Amino acid sequence: MDAIVALAKRRGFIFPSSEIYGGLNGFFDYGPLGAELKKNIRDCWWNDLVRRRDDIVGVETSIIMHPKVWEASGHVAGFTDPLVDCKVTKQRFRADQLFFAEVVVDGKTVGHVSAVESDDTARDLQEMAEYFKRKKAIQGTLAPVVAREFTTAKPEEVPLIPSPVTGNPGDLTEARAFNMMFQTNVGAMTDASSVAYLRPETAQGMFVDFKSVVDTGRVKLPFGIAQIGRSFRNEITPRNFIFRSREFEQMEMEYFIHEEADWAKCHQEWIEWCRQWLLSIGLPESHLSLYAHPKEKLAFYSKGTVDIMFKYPFGVQELWGIAARGDYDLKQHATCSGKPQEIFDEATKRKFVPHVIEPAVGVDRILLAALCAGYAEDEAPDEKGKLEKRIVLRLSPRIAPVKVAVLPLLKNKELLTARARELYRKLQRRYAVFYDEAGAIGRRYRRQDEIGTPWCVTIDFETIEKDGSFTLRDRDTMAQRRIHEPELFALLEEKVY
Ligand code: ATP
Repeated sequence: MDAIVALAKRRGFIFPSSEIYGGLNGFFDYGPLGAELKKNIRDCWWNDLVRRRDDIVGVETSIIMHPKVWEASGHVAGFTDPLVDCKVTKQRFRADQLFFAEVVVDGKTVGHVSAVESDDTARDLQEMAEYFKRKKAIQGTLAPVVAREFTTAKPEEVPLIPSPVTGNPGDLTEARAFNMMFQTNVGAMTDASSVAYLRPETAQGMFVDFKSVVDTGRVKLPFGIAQIGRSFRNEITPRNFIFRSREFEQMEMEYFIHEEADWAKCHQEWIEWCRQWLLSIGLPESHLSLYAHPKEKLAFYSKGTVDIMFKYPFGVQELWGIAARGDYDLKQHATCSGKPQEIFDEATKRKFVPHVIEPAVGVDRILLAALCAGYAEDEAPDEKGKLEKRIVLRLSPRIAPVKVAVLPLLKNKELLTARARELYRKLQRRYAVFYDEAGAIGRRYRRQDEIGTPWCVTIDFETIEKDGSFTLRDRDTMAQRRIHEPELFALLEEKVY
């Protein structure tokens, strides 16, 4: 992760937000390359899902909506994380990310240890228990620790569990529900009547606009409404770089189906569509897995949720959630607004509320997955043929921020630079391309490898003096071959779509 974060900063993909003021935890800025990469991810999703399908339309709804929306959706009452405070240091923890264990020696509990969730929380707790026993000079055999989530602590256990910061029992509060929605006020008054929220998900925009789309959009079941936009969650512990932040971007789609449709089949189809889409933008199959939420942990209205998980360097984590939500959301809005959210069934001549399948993914999490999977260190020959370390970002041409770098072999040969610039201008009309004439050619290749540019073309004397062909160099294989301009455009047409 350190190498990826360093590269992201060094090459202008991602910076901490407001860095000159020390940054703001949980907020990030995308630099020139990051902004391109992110836009490409969004565009691929939008093109594949909205433009290239006949059954899905796109919307863009407002970030601040009527506060009743969030009462109807259940977010005001239930969009909470369990929060624990350290009374001494004022540090806050998510109770479901805080673990504790009893220290048991010769069958007797002699104390407790605690740790914040890590790659191997059980091992951390075991080491702490051993340290505890040594420090207190307790004789006997230490039992293997049993890690428990703080959320499972009984009230009488809480005072016995040490704070992970101070190490002292009694410093932690009991867990309490903390609502993650950011509040603001609309208009000049700042009283209860003006309270509004920054949306914690984009999905409610699609539900609230359901009738408007049906009445104006000539859509027929089954159909989807999709949206890309910012969401905001006051996460207690933003972490793992851009994986969990407080302002992030979501790509969500509500796929409405007949109340009697085979929802399980439709759910499966969308899981597979999402998986295939991730492969199409270059995420390796070996890093993807599925996690079906156990029935007993589902919300009461949910028929099933499957997450597509990604193997990040910090562990296997949720990338994309695909939920079968029944008719819960539309029915809630119908009840709370008093406006029916129904559709007319021509076949049976009656009205009903459609059910929905919801694939919801974060753009930032996809971008991070692409950086993590694409980052590699290998070796490449330098100018003199000596092997040196190379950093390469193996991004799919579909999402790479720069598609082609155009390089004249020499900077001071007008014939070469003029032809290179001409090609550059031509490519630029359709693709994000880069012109670079500074430095040795090998170093220029290396600069492009590091930012994930799939191809470099080099204009040399053969281009001018012979048949106009130029060298095409492949980022991953480093192989070079000569091609002509129409072939280059054909290659781009095939790979960048
Ligand atoms: P998590 O369990 O990781 O908090 P969630 O189950 O609450 O996520 P959803 O509400 O299903 O997430 O949101 C849909 C998608 O939005 C997630 O799969 C993820 O890709 C993205 N997402 C959610 N929260 C964040 C966040 N704080 N930062 C970045 N992306 C997020």
